[in-house]
Amino acid sequence: MPAPRLSAAAFVEGLLAGQRGVLSRAITLAESTLPADRALGQEVLQAVLPRTGRSLRIGITGVPGVGKSTFIEALGRHVVETLGKKLAVLAVDPSSQRGGGSILGDKTRMPWLSAHPAVFVRPSPAGGSLGGVTRATREALLLCEAAGHDVIFVETVGVGQSETAVHGLVDFFLLLLLAGAGDELQGLKRGIMEMADALCITKADQANELAARRARIDYQNALHLFPPAPSGQVVPVLLTSAVTGAGLPETWATVETYAAAARASGYFAQRRAEQQLQWFEDAVQQALAAQFYGRAGVRGALADVRAAVAAGQLTPWAAAERLLGAE
Ligand code: GDP
Repeated sequence: MPAPRLSAAAFVEGLLAGQRGVLSRAITLAESTLPADRALGQEVLQAVLPRTGRSLRIGITGVPGVGKSTFIEALGRHVVETLGKKLAVLAVDPSSQRGGGSILGDKTRMPWLSAHPAVFVRPSPAGGSLGGVTRATREALLLCEAAGHDVIFVETVGVGQSETAVHGLVDFFLLLLLAGAGDELQGLKRGIMEMADALCITKADQANELAARRARIDYQNALHLFPPAPSGQVVPVLLTSAVTGAGLPETWATVETYAAAARASGYFAQRRAEQQLQWFEDAVQQALAAQFYGRAGVRGALADVRAAVAAGQLTPWAAAERLLGAE
């Protein structure tokens, strides 16, 4: 039986008290496409907004197999156990489907974190467009902050557009790389490297260690050819092993040093402000599209207009104009 619906006030109270069950349900509202859920979700978000914005938001990306979940489990453990932080792990993966294959943020992939009371782990909303998944994750991020999580990892797969979306959500973007795998194999387009605030070569242990050291020099050389990062900070290449724990404290220290410098220079606030504006523009676009496709006149004529465009009988622009005129 579904739990009884909470009021906005009950959501707000539970969130601010850090109740995980309430946080989870609030995120479910954010993921919902039902208008009533969306309205309630917005009311809750608006109410907790003054309690958001205080976490450090860290994006983590890399191809499947690079060791993301193992890395997040190990780095997260360091952050929680050694530093006493309250952590949330969210995921952005528009291709994720429940009931098959691995899902980013899947609790079984991060057993220690998932079992810890100071950690909240949430898988990516299943299916859906990148825009929808990103919107839900933005809201989830704010809700986690309201619930007192002071470090948030946003995980994504480095194979498509989702890393650009995640870059627009976070303060620090970490790219995980394998030693010895070609850049193409890793889906490593130049643009992704340019977005990174640090590179981590994973699995730098055992037989892999020498290759990892070599890869580090290669990536350091490659980074020299890029224009300076917008933060003005050097992009370090770190060697890490989630198995031995090597490089993890250094990785966290890098994040903290970066954040301190970015706060001092004003870049941190500037990046957040730009992201907020981007969220606003995306919200306008999504609302306009929903309004447009929701009109009866558009719904009635859409199939015919699409067919005429596909058949080359009507230009896409004329088709759009015609539908924009429909009530
Ligand atoms: P994901 O698909 O990016 O989430 O990658 P996983 O975290 O599932 O790791 C992929 C494989 O690499 C698994 O078999 C892990 O056991 C292994 N692995 C992950 N991290 C390390 C590491 O630091 N050292 C070694 N030797 N193996 C690792």
